[in-house]
Amino acid sequence: MNTTDVDAVVNPVASAAANGNGHPGANGHPGSNGHPGSNGHAVAAPRHNRTDGIRLFDKCYSFDVPDKIMDAGVYTFFRAIESAQDPEVIIGGQKLVMLGSNNYLGLTNHPKVKEAAIDAIRKFGSGCAGSRFLNGTMKIHEKLEEKLADFMGKEAAVTFATGFQVNLGTISCLSDRRDVLYLDKQDHACIIDGARLGLGEVRKFRHNDAKDLRRKMEADDVPSDPPGRLIVVDGVYSMEGDICPLPEIVEVAKDFGAAVMVDDAHGIGVMGKGGRGTAEHFGIEKDVHLIMGTFSKSLASVGGFVCGDKRTMYYVKHRARTNVFSAAPSPACVAAASAAVDIVRNEPERRELLWKNTKFMLDGFRSLGFDTCQSETPVIPVLVGEDYVSFGMAKRLHEEGVFVNAVVSPATPPGRALLRTSYMATHTQSHLSFALDKFAKVGREFGVIR
Ligand code: PMP
Repeated sequence: MNTTDVDAVVNPVASAAANGNGHPGANGHPGSNGHPGSNGHAVAAPRHNRTDGIRLFDKCYSFDVPDKIMDAGVYTFFRAIESAQDPEVIIGGQKLVMLGSNNYLGLTNHPKVKEAAIDAIRKFGSGCAGSRFLNGTMKIHEKLEEKLADFMGKEAAVTFATGFQVNLGTISCLSDRRDVLYLDKQDHACIIDGARLGLGEVRKFRHNDAKDLRRKMEADDVPSDPPGRLIVVDGVYSMEGDICPLPEIVEVAKDFGAAVMVDDAHGIGVMGKGGRGTAEHFGIEKDVHLIMGTFSKSLASVGGFVCGDKRTMYYVKHRARTNVFSAAPSPACVAAASAAVDIVRNEPERRELLWKNTKFMLDGFRSLGFDTCQSETPVIPVLVGEDYVSFGMAKRLHEEGVFVNAVVSPATPPGRALLRTSYMATHTQSHLSFALDKFAKVGREFGVIR
């Protein structure tokens, strides 16, 4: 398929995305709910009709952005993997080099991690049958919290069923009336949602721009009665792999008596000599009040945690509604994460391999002429421009045996669609060279590189 073919086939998708609803994860607003969108664009006739007159579901029946991508033959979301989340995966019987996983240290299929999960199921069963607050706390939750606090160098930690729930519950419970939250514009969705749920005001500052943060804080300054302030940033940004300038953020925080929380979903296990994340990387762990992490990336499981001082964790544990009113992480998940923390601590060579692979790919992409944005981490975006190029390239790479994720608007600004790639300690040079060859081939087909 050459560029012109792809243009002809996929362009309708680009225009759908330009209407603000191009991301299949979006809820279809505006412009796809059967009413004129708030942007004034006309709405396509619904593909699927509902005849019972219930208006509520109109939006679901007329929502057709994914259909258009499927019609164009370039839909790569929800691909069902038939093997473990390893450097190579099987999909539809085809072997692909996996460049779309957050399994940074390659631990999801590690014998010790799997054995720990199996043992936990034998001893504690398959679920906790309730929230941590009531009946769901088991001895292994407490042990993992102690281990995480000790590992992260904080007084205490609280575990949750997912990383999303950590941010949703922790940020919202800390945000009272008269408090002000300062979020980087590219913070993860669960930070934004947590802030929305809280009672405090929310300000967004320009991405990685401590000067803009300072301006926003100055504008809120009431020296006689300062508000409670919390700055929340990602340590490593999940789509573009750039690192937060944490020392600059901390400096501003100190000047305004603000607390700092880092979402280190992509930093823990990866950043810092000990794998303790972005604050360790910069040597400023003491200046960061709260760090959250997920079990779903380097820690090879599902769940999440936040750590900080004892009283704050005590408050979060009792007040975060996603902890109090939602089930505890399952015994298997807790045991797997616990085994993974031991490996993060005891096998620094995994991190070294991950960084060696990262450097190889950053150099490889750049020497082929690809734009990898500001990435300095194992999350490496490849900038491809329009959404339809991202969809088309992801599909062609799949056909060529490489799994990558298409990232399009509104997850990225219009015209800055990406292919998100990410690496594991367990990728071999031959996996990576294979992937670079395929990127070169497909990148030329689409005119992204010469
Ligand atoms: N924060 C960031 C930066 C993330 O990328 C993610 C997951 N994509 C989360 C939080 C949520 O973590 P989880 O998958 O454990 O819900």
